[in-house]
Amino acid sequence: MNKAVFFDLDDTLYDTSDFARLARRAAINVMIDAGLPLTPDEAYKLLREIIKEKGSNYDKHFNILTKRVYGEEKPLLIALGMITYHNVKFALLRLFPETMSTLIYLKSKGYHLGIISNGITIKQWEKLIRLGLHHFFDEVITSEEAGVEKPDKKIFQKSLDRMGCKAEKSIMIGNKFSEDIIGALNAGMYAILVNSQLTEDEQKYLEERNIELKVLSNIQDIKKIL
Ligand SMILES: [Mg+2]
Repeated sequence: MNKAVFFDLDDTLYDTSDFARLARRAAINVMIDAGLPLTPDEAYKLLREIIKEKGSNYDKHFNILTKRVYGEEKPLLIALGMITYHNVKFALLRLFPETMSTLIYLKSKGYHLGIISNGITIKQWEKLIRLGLHHFFDEVITSEEAGVEKPDKKIFQKSLDRMGCKAEKSIMIGNKFSEDIIGALNAGMYAILVNSQLTEDEQKYLEERNIELKVLSNIQDIKKIL
């Protein structure tokens, strides 16, 4: 039977914290240079409102932005915004330090590796490919594919089935307690929290259930325990 380590993707293997904001700012500046009649702050605020309304996975934020400003879509501005957004976003897409060496280490120890991610399948694959990680993972499962999001244990069970692995022989590593950790524990897996601190409530949750959770500040510390 396989032993497996599953990872969350966003903010576990790479840092998302700044890059969406910086990419949006850059896109807006290019649109303003091309004639969009707003200040950078006005345009950014409007874009944020549209993203909040439509969700971050909607792909026509810039169309709506020009429509709201001009009363009609402006294709040149939309294309400039989209291209700049993507170029800046992918230029900023970087792994956390020592992520690659940690994955190589786990492979050398005989672990099968998987991704369990809430997100759109093609978008998540695109990030893995751009990060140079796609060959490392035996299975990549997204909430879009599974039909449910973490912490629903069905997405974890589906991942285990695909990997041919038992829950008690597997570990989930992620940065969100409420999604990655709770979901994995409910599915009977081991769990490790990275890049995040436990809140008091979370600590209490674990104590009440007598669960000892490993919390690591860096992904490379996995090498010390696996
Ligand atoms: Mg995450």
